Order: sequence, then C-alpha cells, then structure tokens
Amino acid sequence: MSAYKNDTKKSFRLAFLGTGTCSSTKRNPSSFAISDGNIITAVDFGGGAYHQLSRLDNELFDPGKLKNIFITHFHNDHISGLPDLIWGKMYSPIDSGNKELIVYGPPGLQKFWNERLMPFIGKEPSFKVTLRELSNEYFAISDDISVKCSPVFHSENSVAYSFEINGKIISITGDTGLNDNLISIINMSDIAITEWSFTDNNNETAKHMNNNSILKLLDSVRSDCDLYFTHIYPENGMDFMEQIKKIKKFIANNSNKCFFPEDLLVIDIK
Ligand SMILES: [Zn+2]
Ligand SMILES: [Zn+2]
Repeated sequence: MSAYKNDTKKSFRLAFLGTGTCSSTKRNPSSFAISDGNIITAVDFGGGAYHQLSRLDNELFDPGKLKNIFITHFHNDHISGLPDLIWGKMYSPIDSGNKELIVYGPPGLQKFWNERLMPFIGKEPSFKVTLRELSNEYFAISDDISVKCSPVFHSENSVAYSFEINGKIISITGDTGLNDNLISIINMSDIAITEWSFTDNNNETAKHMNNNSILKLLDSVRSDCDLYFTHIYPENGMDFMEQIKKIKKFIANNSNKCFFPEDLLVIDIK
C-alpha cells in the first residue's frame, strides 16, 4: 500500500465493541469501530454492536455517526447486530442519522442481504443502504482513510481489511486460520486485530487459530506490530481472566506485543 499523505492529521480512535464470539457470553460477538469524531466505520457487526456504541458514552462514537460497515464474512457472530441496527435506526426518534449506510463485504454480500437479513427483518430499511461487494482491492473511503481488502482462509470468501489512517496500517482480520496471507497482512500492519479462537490444541482446524498456530504466527511476524487478540472461545471450568492469564504465560516471550482487549476499550490511532 502506498503511504497516504495528509498534512493535517485528524485524530482517530478505535473501539472494541465486541471481543468475543456468540459462545463467549460474557463478551459481545465481534465488532470494532473507528471514529474521527464525525464518521464511524465499523468492521463486523456482531450481536449488540449498535448498543455497545451507546455504552461507550463517548460522543466520538455516537451511533448516529455510523456510516460504513465492513463485513469480514457472514457467520452469525459477525453479523447478528445488523437487524438491531436497521430496526433501531428506522424507529429512533433521536438517531438523526437515518442517513445512507454503506455496507461492504466479500462476494455474497448481496445474496446474504436479500436472502437472510431482509427476510429476518421483515421490511426494507426506510433509509438508503448501499451494498458494495469487494474482492482483492485497495480504495479510499474518505480523504483520511484508505482500505485494502485481502482474502483469508476461513469460510468461503472471508476477507480481512487493512485501513491506512494517518500513515499507519490497522488490520482487522476477522476469523482465520494460519496461512501466508495472514502473515503478510500482519507484516504490513502497525496494529493488527486477529483471532485466537481456541486457547489449547484440542480444536485442530485450519480455519481458526489455536495455541500451536499462534506460536507459529508469533515466530513469523514483525516484532513491532501491536497484536490484539479477540474471538476467544471459553474454556471449560475457567473464567475469562484465568484463561487470559494462562495464555499470557504461554506466549511469555512475546507478551509485550500481544494485547487482550476487553469490550469497550478505546485506543488512539497515532
Ligand atoms: Zn467465522
Ligand atoms: Zn467468528
């Protein structure tokens, strides 16, 4: 990606709306939001994401500012907040938003929208929605944000998004197993939000990360990228903080570049 030149840098913040999955009932399913104070761009929209924006109690993340939603893939834990958003915006007396919503996603977005989401909601949105299917491409969504969409290995057509903001690359991979694409995405990033679904090796699948694949990943990626791990499934008999303590010990040598955000954490993109 070419470095984006901007003389007057705005300040951007990234909020972790949902750091879990549908199974991790103490954490909301996947969703992240980036705000410059005027426009919110979300990546994935798991259950409760619309309400999590309000819970931030932060004017940068006023739900009426939500304009762009990037969907990594169509599994329920990444899209289940969309019906609340659409219904909520249609009937809100205070969401002055009701402006155009632009939803980006991999091939299959239009089919998902027409055949799964709209029948579930039961009526068409009263506001304009633009759907844009993406494959492997790089484009600007505003004067300050460019985005690259790259394939990852998970479900059919799963993608990761890398946002170029203020000369920094922030990548959000969605669900993925370990493969060269994931390593390349992280190696071009300053901040990467990725998954660590299984915090043991009992679940061997090429479509998610487990302890083995995390160790291999850490051996293969640049050491100056801040890695935020989310989408952690619960382990039997262990509360979440115990689970985090256990995996921090497991990656002891790399723990200074690995972070385990909680829901509603907000970080600066500097
Ligand atoms: Zn998935
Ligand atoms: Zn998932």
